[in-house]
Amino acid sequence: SDSQPAKRIRALDPDVVNKIAAGEIIVAPVHALKELIENAVDAGSTSIEILAKEGGLKLLQITDNGCGIQKDDLVLLCERHTTSKITSFEDLTSISTYGFRGEALASISHIAHLTVTTKTKDSNLAWRAHYQDGRLASPKPGQPAEPKGVAGRPGTQITVADLFYNVPTRRRAFRSPADEFNKIIDMVGRYAIHCKGVGFTCKKAGESSTSLSVQAHATVNDRIRQIYGASVANELISFKATDDRWGFQADGLVTNANYHIKKTTLLLFINHRSVESPVIKKAVEQTYSAYLPKGGHPFAYLNLEIDPARVDVNVHPTKREVHFLNEDEIVQAICQEIETKLSEVDASRTFMTQT
Ligand code: ADP
Ligand code: MG
Repeated sequence: SDSQPAKRIRALDPDVVNKIAAGEIIVAPVHALKELIENAVDAGSTSIEILAKEGGLKLLQITDNGCGIQKDDLVLLCERHTTSKITSFEDLTSISTYGFRGEALASISHIAHLTVTTKTKDSNLAWRAHYQDGRLASPKPGQPAEPKGVAGRPGTQITVADLFYNVPTRRRAFRSPADEFNKIIDMVGRYAIHCKGVGFTCKKAGESSTSLSVQAHATVNDRIRQIYGASVANELISFKATDDRWGFQADGLVTNANYHIKKTTLLLFINHRSVESPVIKKAVEQTYSAYLPKGGHPFAYLNLEIDPARVDVNVHPTKREVHFLNEDEIVQAICQEIETKLSEVDASRTFMTQT
């Protein structure tokens, strides 16, 4: 039998590699947005404005009033692994900012048309730059691929247009811009509740009213009221938990036994990054099961800070998953506190909610 000759092994073109990596980090518009919000928060912003068109697929624009980017750094901005946030691998163990790998903007530039307008407080002008595949690009054929001086306010505006324009299978997989916008609003809401001292707005392009708005000076309770409504905000209890042995401190606001919904709403931040944790969610639900009617679930905002040396954030390309030492002990300590608070409130209640 004639066997097939072995095919030669060849290196992929770097642009192909980058496009594949980008698709792994940014699966949907909300993932690009999350990275951009984290960058804006890292930049010390007190105001973050978000605009989305067609669920962020046509346009995603985020405007902040943070420190801005120096003109001379614009040439490097979208190259992979360029960052102002760490210089060594060891720095990962003490990182306090969101970003750490210098990959977000690079990735976005490989799968969208990216425009950055930025002004530092020391600069007279704002600078606008366009990017394609990690490099500065010219805005129009015949124009130079270099930053252009424009009038502008201090801070940074990032515009992501036509996300996945060059990944047609991915682009076609999005059936509903409305679903994508809902994911965006959910994510903005999470950060808007968590980021004290930062005001947020989120708008759908073409609509006059804002979908979400919180003031910079609003309290966490106000923020929850604005976003999740009075029915949640009126029934919140606060808790704190800490243990030096496990190197963590936690606090949060959770609903009492007067409130329940069909599905748990868990806003979980670990070291100021919004993450998912099925383990924590299950533990919280377990804690509430004795206090809520069957099928009822709580709202919980949980801010967990763990010694960065005990956290491995580098496990998932999207950074959605975080692993840390003594997870069981930490989760148990938190749920213990919640349980204590729940039982206190329960004991002082004058009536029971029954269904
Ligand atoms: P990382 O956040 O991991 O450093 P990014 O690709 O997200 O990587 O950003 C690269 C760099 O660009 C950041 O380190 C920061 O210096 C700069 N940067 C990005 N967004 C902003 C912003 N909104 N304001 C100020 N600087 C920014
Ligand atoms: Mg970043």
